[in-house]
Amino acid sequence: MRVLVCTCNNKIKLPDFDLGPDINLEMHTDLCKRKAAISPDEKVVIAGCSPSLMEGLFPDVNAEFVNLHEHIVLMGHSMDKAKDLIAAAVEKMKALTPIKRKVFKIENKNALIIGGGIAGIEVASRLSENGLNATLIEKAPFLGGTVAKLDRLYPEGTPYSHTLMPQIGKLISGKNINLFFNTEVKEIKGSVGSYKIILQTHSRGVIECTNCGKCTEVCPIEINDEGKKRKAIYYVPTFPDKYAIDWKNCTKCGECLKVCEGKIELENKISEKEITAGAVVVATGLNYYDACNVEEYGYGRYPGVMTTLEFERAVTSEELKPEKVVIVYCVGSRDSKHLPYCSKICCFLGLKEAKLITDRLPQTQVYVAAMDMRSSGTFEYLYNKLRERGVTFIKGKPSEILQRNGKLVVRSEDLYTNELLEIEADAVVLSTGFTPDKETFEKLGIKLNGDFPILFENSSLGNTDLPRGIFTAGSATFPAAVRDTLIDARKAAFSVLSLLKQDKIETLQPVARVDEDLCSVCRMCIGTCAYNAISIVDDKIKINEELCMGCGVCTITCPSYASQLETFNPEAFSRQIKSLVKEGDILALLCRWSAYNATDKAAYDKFSYPENVKIIRVPCSGAVDPSHVMDALDKGAKGVLIGGCYPDACHYAKGNFRAKAREQVLKMNLESMGFDKNVVRLEWIGKDEANKFVEIVKEMNK
Ligand code: SF4
Ligand code: SF4
Repeated sequence: MRVLVCTCNNKIKLPDFDLGPDINLEMHTDLCKRKAAISPDEKVVIAGCSPSLMEGLFPDVNAEFVNLHEHIVLMGHSMDKAKDLIAAAVEKMKALTPIKRKVFKIENKNALIIGGGIAGIEVASRLSENGLNATLIEKAPFLGGTVAKLDRLYPEGTPYSHTLMPQIGKLISGKNINLFFNTEVKEIKGSVGSYKIILQTHSRGVIECTNCGKCTEVCPIEINDEGKKRKAIYYVPTFPDKYAIDWKNCTKCGECLKVCEGKIELENKISEKEITAGAVVVATGLNYYDACNVEEYGYGRYPGVMTTLEFERAVTSEELKPEKVVIVYCVGSRDSKHLPYCSKICCFLGLKEAKLITDRLPQTQVYVAAMDMRSSGTFEYLYNKLRERGVTFIKGKPSEILQRNGKLVVRSEDLYTNELLEIEADAVVLSTGFTPDKETFEKLGIKLNGDFPILFENSSLGNTDLPRGIFTAGSATFPAAVRDTLIDARKAAFSVLSLLKQDKIETLQPVARVDEDLCSVCRMCIGTCAYNAISIVDDKIKINEELCMGCGVCTITCPSYASQLETFNPEAFSRQIKSLVKEGDILALLCRWSAYNATDKAAYDKFSYPENVKIIRVPCSGAVDPSHVMDALDKGAKGVLIGGCYPDACHYAKGNFRAKAREQVLKMNLESMGFDKNVVRLEWIGKDEANKFVEIVKEMNK
């Protein structure tokens, strides 16, 4: 085994030390600039800067990383501790077998794009321009998604069609593009490079169409389509140039058949088709958060309380001409009862609607009630412009909206003036947060981290995620303005091109492996996997290498230790702990995605923690076995800290919940063995929470 120590231009002065037979210690001055050659098959320990940096420099090696720079040099800790960390890493590596190289063949060069909004259109066009076959499916009968429902795009204020229609023109004139409308994914099987997808399509209802519009005139069913009235047979001026029946609202009265005989069929036929693809792009856009959930605002009960989209469509179709409007920000956003996150684009949308109404109806009095205004870039100009126009900005979140004498009344405090206000209005516009299309992600087996698949974003080719060949684009990733959506779509198209131009991809990503001789097929591991990577094949437990994300959660559940994670098997981890921990130490077992990063930040922010705090990076807090905690306590540790991601932010969906469940049992066992149960702590520590980490370990050290 080789041990590569970077002296960081002689800042690290390790004394000579012997790591035992067959261990070659190599000193390098700057591994970050002069990379050492390492064969993928050899086992190495790399000691230097934080693994956050070193892992990027050495992505395809069988290595255990030791953080000398952030944990020793910047902390002012001793070189003896550095030697201990290196020796413990060597002990761990001795008990590991090298990670098996995985090879995924890219057999199919076609791409499936789910979603015919602006992101999906851009991805399909870019792929077609670069010679790939693209199949684009859209669940509605027309292209355009949310953008086709808008009036104008801000801050420029150009009509939506100026951006969307050239995109559509490019798409429909592109080569090798198949378009399917009224279509969704029913089932997807296979893996990167060779997916088989069953598409389910509802018929359009209109077979031949000259766009005369007579069917719409006679249709008796009128619908409020997000603020704009339309009929149950309708047309959206994007693509295709053909009317369609809205099956949810059509009563099959047959009036349209009378004016267009033989060209309309009132039967919603469902057909299925199997297609193949090497990569999939999810461009399903966003959904407006259901404002009915925010009961105090009366959405759905009081006419005149509407969403930004409904307001925009009602004003531009001249169905609404209000004299007084209140625009309420953060409806359902940044609220633990609804959406805990900021949806990023709703502040812009609120400003946009204020601009729209003051453009069209300058006499309308407009109020904006917002706790904060997050108007980045050119939107700041819009904000200033609206102030000049006399729009009143109130600092506060309305407590409720009532109906009184036929008017809406918005109750709010104004923190600028410290007044309690009651504003009467004809219309109240709720700027809601956004949610993703969870159904599509579920069908594809993609776990949402919190509410959006943020960490999944274009991850297939990264070195920290497995190569599933499924990408996200635009607001399916996280709510984005049109300009940012297009940039993101181009990135997704580039990722697909990079993947499909290869005939195979190889990775050393660690996965769980099952020892068939030890496995009793008890099936306990199956339910623990958040990625459905474990199944039974021929009466044996099988781990799907492509789906396994390497969290290690299943390995801790296995009563026979039959399932083990490459790079993190129980024996190796136990050896590392036993080698490292000394009497009176605090052992910190920290999730690589969250708490571990807080220790790097502690170093940069010049915090300090005691020398006896020894840190080991783990794949997930849910991968820590109680037996490893006992190893540390047996060696005399004063305390063991397990640091994981916050509940809704676990990188592996719910590994931290597994850790929490295990903590309870562990504490009970500790008490029954005569230990103080508080010697073990499980804490949620965000990657920026250096202060929290330092305070916890100092407290544990008292
Ligand atoms: S479906 Fe028939 S009636 Fe309706 S627009 Fe098309 S041609 Fe005209
Ligand atoms: S938990 Fe362990 S023993 Fe049980 S089925 Fe899974 S790998 Fe086999």
